Amino acid sequence: PASGGKTFFGHPRGLATLFMTEMWERFSFYGMRALLVLYLISGGTDAKPGAQGGGLAMTMATASAIYAVYLAMVYLLAMPGGWFADRVWGPRKTVIIGGCVVMLGHLTLAVPGTAMFFVGMALVALGSGLLKANISTMVGHLYDGPQDPRRDGGFTIFYIGINVGGFAAPLVVGTIGQSVNWHLGFASAAVGMGLGLLQFIIGTRHLAPLSSTVPTPLSIEERNSWLRKGLLWLVVAAVFYGIVVGTGTFTLNWALIPIALLGLIIPVSVLARIKRDKDLTSAEQTKVSGYIWFFVAAAVFWMIFDQAGSTLSGFAEKNTADTVFGMHFPSTWFQSVNPLWVMALAPVFAWMWLALAKRLKEPSTTIKFAIAMVMIGISYFVFIVPMGMSSDGTKVSPMWLLMVYMIQTMGELCLSPVGLSVTTKLAPEKYASQMLGVWFLAVTAGDCIVSLLSTAGADLSGVGVLSAEATLAVLAGLAIWLNRKKITGLMGDVR
Ligand code: GLN
Repeated sequence: PASGGKTFFGHPRGLATLFMTEMWERFSFYGMRALLVLYLISGGTDAKPGAQGGGLAMTMATASAIYAVYLAMVYLLAMPGGWFADRVWGPRKTVIIGGCVVMLGHLTLAVPGTAMFFVGMALVALGSGLLKANISTMVGHLYDGPQDPRRDGGFTIFYIGINVGGFAAPLVVGTIGQSVNWHLGFASAAVGMGLGLLQFIIGTRHLAPLSSTVPTPLSIEERNSWLRKGLLWLVVAAVFYGIVVGTGTFTLNWALIPIALLGLIIPVSVLARIKRDKDLTSAEQTKVSGYIWFFVAAAVFWMIFDQAGSTLSGFAEKNTADTVFGMHFPSTWFQSVNPLWVMALAPVFAWMWLALAKRLKEPSTTIKFAIAMVMIGISYFVFIVPMGMSSDGTKVSPMWLLMVYMIQTMGELCLSPVGLSVTTKLAPEKYASQMLGVWFLAVTAGDCIVSLLSTAGADLSGVGVLSAEATLAVLAGLAIWLNRKKITGLMGDVR
């Protein structure tokens, strides 16, 4: 424990620092996310008639593909982010550098222009990658060991911080961006990240000493070999894209499709490498086989869940009534609904697991995952109803989206926190510090599938694709349930 004296809800003071930093980082992330697709389609044929112009006038299909690839990159880069903390800068410094890069990214987005947009987005993804997994690792550092009884509670408080930021973001960044000016909105996201950085630097003395050390520093030879490899790939990519651009064949798909494919290949090969690693004991290998079930399920889950900022956001903008009690509100506000449900339902779920544990028994991780998959599937089956109702141009009641988000959040609470903890518990010792990065790769894989579907011409807002995704999720839930004994067996002593 890093701090003596004052505590934060009975937790080390450092938790307050990490809570506030991650709250502001998520504020900037979800604020920008709420605007992203609307900004991309603004001024084009897919925008709502009469909506604010000044965007990049893309089609909804292109915007959804870009959005999905962007999210995929944010979570993919969490892995190298963890590596940098482990081997180069240590977690604290990596978070500061990441925060600066995120802020710079939002500031870049604040400047109009297509090139600025892509550079800004890349910077935000890079910065988030450096920040996201490491800040969670630092939460873990505040406690003495896995045995500290406050650890799970600490992570719950931290998850609330994430959602306070996620809740406020659409209301502030979304409103400014959607109702005043897109770029002013992005600038306000930069201000949020700036406040988070300030908080982090001021509170830095409360963090665990472990957070400032580099656990396994890179040797000079290793560094040179990485630099050589990196440079080689950079040259290969530069030559390849030089030719594509030079011959005039470049279109956005030349960037989107290779990145999305990488986003599928990398997660699969990382899991395969861990599974085949000869250094693992056979008990560890079995656990990895069990983990693959959870990983695949999570990929399908986030595939659907992350369309909140594209498919659901588009539906909120164009097909949902935007007045309550005669008061008009910007459609980005719907993006606050999921974090709101998280804050409302997280205590209910915590109480429910406890009550179940006392009376019958707490459902296992496997059962929770099965429930989550069925829930996310049901959410889309429900969503198809207002989708159909609005096909003649009627605006549906906001209650529909509130309900869809409620069902999704119930799924999220069965999968997301549980997933984080089962990831750390099933991790082979050798990969302990990298495993959270592996968990986030499930998001990458899910989002890349969506992106590829969109570039291939599938209509992500069409009833066909929506019900196919919903069916897949329910089937995945069913498969987990039917194989629950097998999966639990693979998990060994982990529950
Ligand atoms: N809403 C959570 C967060 O932003 C979980 C997102 C995720 O893991 N895909 O951290």
